[in-house]
Amino acid sequence: MRIERINNGIVIDHIAAGKGIEILKLFPTEILRTKIDYASYIDSPRMGMKDIIKIENVDVNHEWLMKVALLAPDLTISVIRDAKVVEKINPTLPELIEGIIKCRNPKCVTVRETYLPSLFRVARMENGKLKQQCQFCEHIFYS
Ligand SMILES: [Zn+2]
Repeated sequence: MRIERINNGIVIDHIAAGKGIEILKLFPTEILRTKIDYASYIDSPRMGMKDIIKIENVDVNHEWLMKVALLAPDLTISVIRDAKVVEKINPTLPELIEGIIKCRNPKCVTVRETYLPSLFRVARMENGKLKQQCQFCEHIFYS
């Protein structure tokens, strides 16, 4: 599959093969009412196989950058303006994440009192899994 060049928008590259669909799901559907190119399992010298997504006329947004970093830390996002790459972003995982992850401990105060934004300390483990610790109840889970 050939991916067309875009004039304005973003290119998300170096996505682990087959993970592109999950990345697309991070965008609110109203943002995705635009032209999207999605190529899956394409050859990559660096990764073997990878996915690439191009989305026209969208901007990067801090909240979804954090979600992307949680899901796929190794990807590259190029911001395109007037057919030129004006910025390259490697989403980095912040140490603390507020309001994006939900606590899985049913007794946690953030589950009962839903107006409280969750707060998690996150760290990538050596095996690639993500350690997430709730700062309210200290419950730890991995994904
Ligand atoms: Zn909790």
